[in-house]
Amino acid sequence: FPPPPPSAPVGRLADGGFSPYVGCKLFQQLPISQKTKDGLNRKYTEMSEIQRASLPHTLSGRDVLGAAKTGSGKTLAFIIPVLEKLYRARWGPEDGVGCIIISPTKELAGQLFEEFKFVGKYHSLSAGLLIGGRKDVDAEKERVNFLNILVCTPGRLLQHMNETPNFECSELQILVLDEADRILDAGFKYEVDAIISQLPKHRQTLLFSATQTKSVKDLARLSLKDPEYISVHAES
Ligand code: ADP
Ligand code: MG
Repeated sequence: FPPPPPSAPVGRLADGGFSPYVGCKLFQQLPISQKTKDGLNRKYTEMSEIQRASLPHTLSGRDVLGAAKTGSGKTLAFIIPVLEKLYRARWGPEDGVGCIIISPTKELAGQLFEEFKFVGKYHSLSAGLLIGGRKDVDAEKERVNFLNILVCTPGRLLQHMNETPNFECSELQILVLDEADRILDAGFKYEVDAIISQLPKHRQTLLFSATQTKSVKDLARLSLKDPEYISVHAES
């Protein structure tokens, strides 16, 4: 990380680690790329509470389970570390899939894909929306190996894993489950287990949802490494 901006108070992470960015209030104070800052600056100035609490951990590469109520800004809390992780790794077109984001519904996947395009506007990463119900699955199969970031529903992702020739995600850097409690519940058990079994274990994993998941079984299923639990109960 570059040296902290003079205005940022120093702070300590919950695990005893040290981050000079814990006290930051503004996106512009974060140790992130100018491309991401410029994307954020189109609309966003101050971080919400879940963003402030989680970004020092997610940006430092840790696994995080973040809980905060609906509408608290969880989407940016994972979009920013995804963009930064791939940007820092100098991820390019030939590197293939570096990030998979799983969302429980087409509608939510669509919304977060739009937010990705908005905030990621100045990055040269490619992102694709893979959701069920679209007819052009064959065209999608040709594109999918050239995408860096996949935003998907569990069923459609598994369909690609099973049917798309040469579908390849062995270099995956970061996995995100949005609305993780809904994705990990029984309804998606088959898809999630099948997906996880095909992903490399060495990766960063981020889970965000309205309620905190502490089920030891779920954490084992996802091979989380010493995850940081962050719960924000804003009294707004
Ligand atoms: P959640 O996933 O927690 O339900 P979202 O990420 O969908 O919440 O964000 C809810 C709304 O808040 C969105 O319209 C988003 O644009 C807005 N938002 C998120 N973060 C910020 C912020 N730091 N400043 C202002 N608005 C924000
Ligand atoms: Mg959300």
